Amino acid sequence: MIETLAQIASCLDGYDPDALPVPQAKDFIARLVRPLVDVETVALPNALGRVLASDVVCPFDVPAHDNSAMDGYSLRGSDLATSGLPTRLALAGGALAGHRFDGTPPLGHCVRIMTGAVMPEGHDTVVPQELAQLRDGAVDIAAGAVRPGDNRRRRGEDLSAGETALTAGRRLRPADIGLLASLGQAQVTVRRRPRVAYFSTGDELRPVGEALPPGCVYDSNRYTIAAMLQRLGVEAVDLGVVRDDPLALEATLREAALCDAVVTSGGVSVGDADHTRATVAKVGEVLFWKIAMRPGRPMAIGRLQGGALLFGLPGNPVAVMVTFYALVRDALLQLSGAVPETLPMLRATASAPIRKRTGRTEYQRGIVTPAANGGWQVAVTGEQGSGILRSMSLANGLIVLAQDRGPVEAGEWVDVLPFDGLV
Ligand code: AMP
Ligand code: MG
Repeated sequence: MIETLAQIASCLDGYDPDALPVPQAKDFIARLVRPLVDVETVALPNALGRVLASDVVCPFDVPAHDNSAMDGYSLRGSDLATSGLPTRLALAGGALAGHRFDGTPPLGHCVRIMTGAVMPEGHDTVVPQELAQLRDGAVDIAAGAVRPGDNRRRRGEDLSAGETALTAGRRLRPADIGLLASLGQAQVTVRRRPRVAYFSTGDELRPVGEALPPGCVYDSNRYTIAAMLQRLGVEAVDLGVVRDDPLALEATLREAALCDAVVTSGGVSVGDADHTRATVAKVGEVLFWKIAMRPGRPMAIGRLQGGALLFGLPGNPVAVMVTFYALVRDALLQLSGAVPETLPMLRATASAPIRKRTGRTEYQRGIVTPAANGGWQVAVTGEQGSGILRSMSLANGLIVLAQDRGPVEAGEWVDVLPFDGLV
């Protein structure tokens, strides 16, 4: 049974749509989202960023054989001389990656072996070539150069047959693609990507590439939103700019309702909320929130007829990005079927005082740099107005200041959400 928005709200303690703390807004949204269940099969090279639909079980041991971790000579550990004496072993032949040594080397013999080559029958140890000397068809090994079992990779040490290599809900990263390849998988079963419609609202907006009449602004949000959606790996559907006109809004929302989710910008602030509210009510169920956050206080959240989720973001360009990352990102990943992952935060010291009011979560744009004494320091990117998109462009992370926190002194610790990671 699908819950109404009012039923979801009733599950939250002290829910107040006019002063909603960020954690409560997140909780609400997490309860609202139903992950998509459709799956499709894609070729392995196209699976990066896709969400794995089912567990991948390892069909064989990886590696499939004991093999050498070094270029050198393989031997029986039991042939090594004891009590501090050097060892001399006759050379029985060679083993290369992809070309194994045939048969069993006689006792007291070693085999020239390269990294990745299968260990000859009975051999359990590899002496690296730099610790051995070939002389007159035999190899000298200094006392103590190796112990039995050294430099051998064991069969199944990476994964053993029947073990779960990757679990359902995983967003595939480069290492996972490689891992799947190591299991011989040419294709991967993944969840269908959500189709996410997006549009801007406002009579003042002009598309890029056209002249800008006085009093107008270029529609930057649509490009920012498209880029953010692209990074999340959803299928983004551009519905353009919608005039501040109830009929135009209604028509576009009906088109958007064919998708799995809709992200809009503008038209939800106090001045606009009433006309937007009346229009959206015709095509779905929606709540208008005042979230205890800055930037990004107003937001509409709802579900259109047919089930598409609606995220009505504020119009100010920084507020769009901050509300997207604070509240929409996780929801779209959840919709994609991804298992939630907590983003690692950085602890940095404030290099100067930061203005902060209690009673709201603030997301200030920060530049993180290495601190002289180790660790990290962070400075805000100047003016923090919610229309100053350059503050996001300059920043390399968001300084997240919790609702209860007051002004920050220089040298105090703050949490920073870095924009970019390694992979
Ligand atoms: P609104 O939330 O519609 O009242 O808009 C708040 C502010 O954001 C106004 O200054 C708008 O001009 C601006 N704004 C709204 N939508 C966009 C957009 N798509 N691109 C750039 N600025 C916008
Ligand atoms: Mg507007």
